[in-house]
Amino acid sequence: MFCAKCGHSTVQKADNLFVCDQAHENWINAATGPTLCIIKDGKVLYGVRAHDPYKGKLDLPGGFLDLNETLEEAAHREALEEIGTDIEIIDYLGSYTSTYYGDTKPVINVTYVARLTGEPKPGDDLGGGELIWRSLENLPLEDELSWSWPVKMYPDLRNWYAEYGSL
Ligand SMILES: [Zn+2]
Repeated sequence: MFCAKCGHSTVQKADNLFVCDQAHENWINAATGPTLCIIKDGKVLYGVRAHDPYKGKLDLPGGFLDLNETLEEAAHREALEEIGTDIEIIDYLGSYTSTYYGDTKPVINVTYVARLTGEPKPGDDLGGGELIWRSLENLPLEDELSWSWPVKMYPDLRNWYAEYGSL
């Protein structure tokens, strides 16, 4: 990669550190954003992606942080953009790693359990089809998903629901 400060080429010094001949340090940090597991009657809400990558595949509502935005603010913004209604965050479930941009960009997906506060309708990135409710026993796997990392999250979600779920 090239130095973000001077544009010179860099040498990799560690998994997450690239240094140029001017000794500028370029640290690779994961992109971060909220993901929403919106639950109702034991089912989880998915949208259909409207654009590439993975157009037509299922995805949970969520996205990356804007500058100076908190995870909670982004969660509400993404809900309004992608499913046309606000949500109430019920609990923090966990964070899960994945990659983006052809597997070159590390991502931390900060995942919340939430419930609807209005009537959902598909929009923005999830405007590729009708919204879909899937039971916790029949959550979509790699073949139906856009990014497959939620499969790592499902055991935590099922455990959470078994303990706290009355949504
Ligand atoms: Zn430099």
